[in-house]
Amino acid sequence: PAQRVSKFEQDVWSIFTPLAAETKAINLGQGFMNFGPPAVVQEAAKQALDTVEANQYSHPRGRPRLRQALAASYSPEFGRQLDPESEILVTAGANEAMFATFAGFLDEGSEVICMEPFFDQYLPNITMNGGKPVFVPLRAPEHAADQTISSEEWRLDIDELKSKITPRTKMIVLNTPHNPIGKVFSEDELRAIGKVAEEHDLIILTDEVYDRLYYPPLTKFPRIATLDGFWERTITVGSGGKSFASTGWRVGWLIGPAHLIQYSFAAQTRVVFCVNSPCQEAIAAGLEASLTQPLFQDQTKAYLTKRAKLAKVFDDLALPYTMPQGAYYILVNTAKIQYPKDYVFPDILHQRGDDFKMCYWLTKEIGVCCIPPSEFYTKDHWPLAKNYARFAFCKTDDVLDQAAERLLALK
Ligand code: GLN
Repeated sequence: PAQRVSKFEQDVWSIFTPLAAETKAINLGQGFMNFGPPAVVQEAAKQALDTVEANQYSHPRGRPRLRQALAASYSPEFGRQLDPESEILVTAGANEAMFATFAGFLDEGSEVICMEPFFDQYLPNITMNGGKPVFVPLRAPEHAADQTISSEEWRLDIDELKSKITPRTKMIVLNTPHNPIGKVFSEDELRAIGKVAEEHDLIILTDEVYDRLYYPPLTKFPRIATLDGFWERTITVGSGGKSFASTGWRVGWLIGPAHLIQYSFAAQTRVVFCVNSPCQEAIAAGLEASLTQPLFQDQTKAYLTKRAKLAKVFDDLALPYTMPQGAYYILVNTAKIQYPKDYVFPDILHQRGDDFKMCYWLTKEIGVCCIPPSEFYTKDHWPLAKNYARFAFCKTDDVLDQAAERLLALK
């Protein structure tokens, strides 16, 4: 194999998703929904299949209808009129959006600052494009070990961020709402990060795939691209899969100034050329509907109920957790749960963080699959994640109720 892939370990998804299926565990692991997209979106996908032209190549920047719909939906969010011709790029999911952006901007040895924990795909996306990830931690306060906290209490130390910058630093990757923490960065935090980027002339790549999923008391989702002129250096990543319960469609997008988007576009054309056409039509229909119907508001309400259901389980079990301000994961402190000392784990788990064992045991013996967050840390920092497990609540209420029943057996 090529050097660039030879050291890849088996990823967490390909261990836990099949394990959940084999053991018939309730899958609160990988973040996908067990319900479909809104009817208007699903119907539009079916209709698209019935039109000849929506089955053929799309414009490599994305289908005009979707770029128009994105401009209509996001211009008010960004406080500027977005140009669908040059400031929006439709991508094959958010992951490919980021890959294409790294490909478009990194040279051999370019450094990219990521906050740890980080969504696992960033690392291979950076290294496969010759870049070097450099980490700066988000830290929970000490009382998080025995008390439930809000995700806003996880903090970045700006001086620590500054200390990571070298002449080779090219980019800062931001993720808000954050996976796995659920943190929504405040305007002040974003301003401080943006200022560092400005001082060192860095590009900001902000992964905002959960941007339509943030919870009260937040009334507005702060975007770094809208603050203090940072627009000029910011590329924002969005996701149809997260916003319209269609993670398998792989429709995402990038929003940013033409002078940046053009390089992501240049790289993307040489990877996928264009994105799957019928699903783009359907996501466009969803965004169009959201202009006149409370689709996102209703979705947020539904997710609030789900968050409350799952949070209550951990309250009942007296397990401290991080209450997420956004996205659909709860990071739980599992230190109080004991699995039998003589429990036999498969060999592959011995080369992983200790949290892999806990999550394996919860999946197999308690029947609820969750994700070990050490996957979101570099190896040296795996111990930081050893007492944590990530549970997803993007599931129907009945499934969350069943999961609750099983988890309460831990009492
Ligand atoms: N974003 C999803 C999660 O964190 C999974 C993405 C993936 O499977 N790579 O669960």
